Amino acid sequence: MLYVGVDFGGTKIEAAALSQDGDFLSRQREPNPGNYHDAIRTVCELINRVETEARQKDPSLAHRIGTIGVGAPGSVSPRTGVMRNANSTWLNGKTFREDLEAALQRPVRLANDANCLALSEAIDGAGKGLKSVFAIIIGTGCGGGLVVDGRLVEGANGVTGEWGHMPLPWPQPEEFPGPTCWCGQKSCLETWVSGSGFARDFHHVTGRAMKGEQIIEAMRAGDPEADAAFDRLIDRLGRALAVAVNMIDPDAFIFGGGLSNVPELYDRLPGKIRPYVFSDAWAATLAAAKWGDSSGVRGAAQLWQQGR
Ligand SMILES: [Zn+2]
Repeated sequence: MLYVGVDFGGTKIEAAALSQDGDFLSRQREPNPGNYHDAIRTVCELINRVETEARQKDPSLAHRIGTIGVGAPGSVSPRTGVMRNANSTWLNGKTFREDLEAALQRPVRLANDANCLALSEAIDGAGKGLKSVFAIIIGTGCGGGLVVDGRLVEGANGVTGEWGHMPLPWPQPEEFPGPTCWCGQKSCLETWVSGSGFARDFHHVTGRAMKGEQIIEAMRAGDPEADAAFDRLIDRLGRALAVAVNMIDPDAFIFGGGLSNVPELYDRLPGKIRPYVFSDAWAATLAAAKWGDSSGVRGAAQLWQQGR
């Protein structure tokens, strides 16, 4: 078999062809042209290129037509069939999957990019062999996805794992009512537990304007204000994950996005989750995505390998 995955990002589009065993046969990327018509054409061209290269590399695939999986921001509404919640807002309201199928003349499976991360890590990544994997992307935003028994759980309305737009739990007085989110609600986790939320909180408390990476560097250099800000970030993340534990109690939390590359996260986080979990004892795997930034494109290709 030939599995083709597409990671449809806001700034770039990447396609990859994977073998049956999950080896990369070809990878290609292009900037996202930023409008719907050209973006569909770019996806088709990238798929054509990775399939051609994969067939050249492995002649036994010469007559294989690849399966196509696409990971995209936002999701398809199972009620209306159109895209919603994408931060590339020109995708919203479009029948993206159907339009890709028409352009490619073959079936397309499409899932949220955090769901693709979850699937990739559950199938052959940091959550391999575990029954339930909750994957989290913390970068500019904050998304999530759930895989149980090797299958994505998308939910009756397709919003499973959208924990970034639930409110910060157990708020302290100084955290109330919280910032207004782009989605219209107040105090969404995404306004606290994200790169921009981290920087905003640090600026609010200290008056110092720094980016997330700079605050982390300052913390490592012994800056007590930076250390306290990182501690607040992990405490907020811990409270949010405790809610996820009390709801679904996954075997693993797997992290992607910028914050996943900060090792101090994994040292401090368990102690911030445990006090809020409704149990005498709690343990779970907490790990960075094994496939890193490749998880998205792998998981998209693996939309055709679920539950094997
Ligand atoms: Zn929100």
